Amino acid sequence: MLGPVILAASRSDRMRRLVSAAPVTKPVVDRFIPGETVDQIVPIIRELTDQGLELTMDVVGEDITTPAQAEAARDAYLELIDRLKPLDLGTRAEMSVKLSMFGQALEGGHELALKNVRPVVEAAAEIGTTVTLDAEDHTTLDSMFAIHEELRKDFPQTGCVIQAYLFRTEADARRLADSGSRVRLVKGAYKEPAEVAYQQRHEIDKAYVRILRTLMEGEGYPMIGSHDPRLIAIGQELARTAGRKLDEYEFQMLYGIRGDEHLRLAAEGHRMRVYTAYGTDWYGYFMRRLAEKPANLRFFARSMVSKG
Ligand SMILES: Cc1cc2nc3c(=O)[nH]c(=O)nc-3n(C[C@H](O)[C@H](O)[C@H](O)COP(=O)(O)OP(=O)(O)OC[C@H]3O[C@@H](n4cnc5c(N)ncnc54)[C@H](O)[C@@H]3O)c2cc1C
Repeated sequence: MLGPVILAASRSDRMRRLVSAAPVTKPVVDRFIPGETVDQIVPIIRELTDQGLELTMDVVGEDITTPAQAEAARDAYLELIDRLKPLDLGTRAEMSVKLSMFGQALEGGHELALKNVRPVVEAAAEIGTTVTLDAEDHTTLDSMFAIHEELRKDFPQTGCVIQAYLFRTEADARRLADSGSRVRLVKGAYKEPAEVAYQQRHEIDKAYVRILRTLMEGEGYPMIGSHDPRLIAIGQELARTAGRKLDEYEFQMLYGIRGDEHLRLAAEGHRMRVYTAYGTDWYGYFMRRLAEKPANLRFFARSMVSKG
């Protein structure tokens, strides 16, 4: 029950100011967002890849209000890609981007986001890696899928994310499961109304399995974005039944969540990609992590009380 309340709070400016300014916030944030600058994140990239993990890098900061901020977002990714170049990691370190950060919600946002994200996709291709377009709230998805289709004309490996909680996603998965596509399936992290999305966990989980079967039986490259042990086991089974080899799909989890499981799956020979976020504008990302697990909020609240 707490999840939707936290997600509603994640849109409140007052709450943003309160949470961001609280002295105890930073140590809790660090669990999920292990750096604020490129200099801080590069050693973490080395450490994780040395452990046999792969990465998808996210520069946080979706709540922008001006075209200049959208350009700054583009430049932050270009700087990161520049720093990745000498590490020569290829697809072991790819990028995840939120189109809102590239201007999608501003006036003329669709064109603006496409214009700003294209150089990032080009730069990623130059160092032998790819970009995946994250899925945000349902009102943004038609634009996201259109930008994805446009980018794939020149960069067919550009990936996208689909969310099991949305009714539309089974049809999207059928459309996207074509040769060369890369699709990350997640449960979904936004507060969505009952008109467009399943509300009950068991309904979302059942949809996840149906959609994952479609992806596994299709011709694309499925990316299983979940920490749920049951879905991970089902994912392995669906891959086996579909005759997929270990390098024909991958698991993805978020930095700071079930780290032992990252290493266990990698040690079993699976491709295991860790979604690693960094940057200073972490509020929206952090609040979604709190909403996913109420125990996180209790921990956060307790640390505020004990320090306050
Ligand atoms: C790689 C990756 C990329 C993602 N990209 C997107 C995206 O583009 N769009 C989008 O809407 N959502 C995205 N998500 C978030 C996703 O939608 C879910 O909100 C999130 O993954 C939690 O769902 P779950 O499948 O892990 O299952 P859950 O049932 O929520 O969790 C299973 C178990 O994992 C652990 N766990 C899960 N979340 C947390 C947490 N925050 N803190 C501590 N433990 C936790 C708990 O042990 C929990 O019991 C992404 C998730 C991943 C892993």
